[in-house]
Amino acid sequence: MTKFTDLKLDPKVLSAVVDAGYEEPTPIQAGAIPPALEGKDVLGIAQTGTGKTASFTLPMLTLLRRGRARARMPRSLVLCPTRELAAQVAENFDLYAKNTKLTRALLIGGVSFGEQDKLIDKGVDVLIATPGRLLDHFERGKLILTDVKVMVVDEADRMLDMGFIPDIERIFQLTPFTRQTLFFSATMAPEIERITNTFLHAPTRVEVARQATTGANITQKLIQIEPARRDQTAKAKRELLRAVISAEGEACTNAIVFCNRKVDVDIVAKSLQKYGFDAAPIHGDLDQSQRTRTLENFRDGKLKLLIASDVAARGLDVPSVSHVFNYDLPMHAEDYVHRIGRTGRAGRKGTAISIAVPSDEKFLGQIESLVEQEIPRAEPPEDFELSEGAKQPARKREDAKGGRSRGGRSRDRGGRGSKRDQRSEETQQPQSAAPQEQQEEQTPKTAEAQPEEARSEAAPEAASAPKPQSRSQSSDEGGNARRSRGGRNRRERDNEVVGMGDHVPDFLTVSFRPGAVEETAEDKADS
Ligand code: AMP
Repeated sequence: MTKFTDLKLDPKVLSAVVDAGYEEPTPIQAGAIPPALEGKDVLGIAQTGTGKTASFTLPMLTLLRRGRARARMPRSLVLCPTRELAAQVAENFDLYAKNTKLTRALLIGGVSFGEQDKLIDKGVDVLIATPGRLLDHFERGKLILTDVKVMVVDEADRMLDMGFIPDIERIFQLTPFTRQTLFFSATMAPEIERITNTFLHAPTRVEVARQATTGANITQKLIQIEPARRDQTAKAKRELLRAVISAEGEACTNAIVFCNRKVDVDIVAKSLQKYGFDAAPIHGDLDQSQRTRTLENFRDGKLKLLIASDVAARGLDVPSVSHVFNYDLPMHAEDYVHRIGRTGRAGRKGTAISIAVPSDEKFLGQIESLVEQEIPRAEPPEDFELSEGAKQPARKREDAKGGRSRGGRSRDRGGRGSKRDQRSEETQQPQSAAPQEQQEEQTPKTAEAQPEEARSEAAPEAASAPKPQSRSQSSDEGGNARRSRGGRNRRERDNEVVGMGDHVPDFLTVSFRPGAVEETAEDKADS
């Protein structure tokens, strides 16, 4: 077994590692540190939570121990896809560099250029940045990249998702050909492969875990519900989420609740707050100071439930998260692995509970084939009952479907019960003729939730961001991320709500095409 003392790290760096309480290097550290210290390029295929930040920071600090940075000419670069990740790397740097005189600057959006310029002007050894912000500084003539000796690209696959690859290529071209590159990605998509083939020189490849691995110490559960009315789905999911969190009781010390869309992050957070839960949202549209405050509170145990989008939460290192709840199943199977990996860190036990509705069937299939296991099915908590609104079938649609039944409880793998069950359930379900308003939960929604909800009805988190016009406009990491996969834009357009305001007449929600009733903005928020 490799020990830290075998790794030829600078003694000052080593003593900081000892102070951090690490007993032995993680596999990515044992694999990546020796070639990095020999000056080789490294291609690390590892997820967050594997100790990969130290696997590039420790050798970098050792390599930079001699020499001094000149004004505006950083000696190394670390590129991260989001502000939070960059800030996290900076924290790691501070921890491991505490016994050295090495300096660093953090260049991220949402922070004034002036302060950052001052630091760069003094000369820094390590520049930790998001790609857009780095290029903004470069274009303003404030930064010279010709002295970069080591360049780290962290979470390259997320950079790809966010449309940052052209920026990364440009930064590669602005740094000297002779630089050393340490490149990390959780997956090796073809585009990532292309970049590494172009810019890395005979890299040492270190792979620590298969991309699809979910931790064995994480208890996974999937609860499927099928609300009678699709326009009540979001409300039913929020009801179930509350019931599930409550049912976990004290075992749930803190949790991240994932939503696919920024708008739902806000709605779910508001709804939970309204029902007395200690919850706060985090996503790319919130201002930086709010994001930082929320994260700090969550890390410090002052906030119990962090409601998050994938982009905002990706790679965040909060060591002891007891639960992850998927309010939505993610649309990309790898995101499932990343999400549930937020719990069960450093060998602790964790619980990941996902909510699924019939329209998630495709995503569920993709997740299960990626992780090569069936996510264990679980029943909703004992006392969980869908609200009346969600239980009542929409009249005409029922007729059109020949009375197919839907229940609140999952019964079998598909959560829909056998045909026989469905039939018997159907006879118990009143074919309601009550006006829609009477069927809905009587909880008023907040004024704030309405306009945003109506605006971005179907926009997934990243895709709902303004379309990038120029590089610098698209560079606001996290918030204005652009996803390239999955053809979402078309779907987004198809689902757009145009000019309905909040009140949608009842007849408009009834479809003549079975299964085509869309959720109205009005029904979406119970908060
Ligand atoms: P990362 O994958 O870089 O986000 O690191 C995940 C967590 O592992 C962080 O909280 C680190 O402080 C911690 N960590 C990194 N290296 C080690 C190690 N060798 N032993 C124990 N914990 C570590």
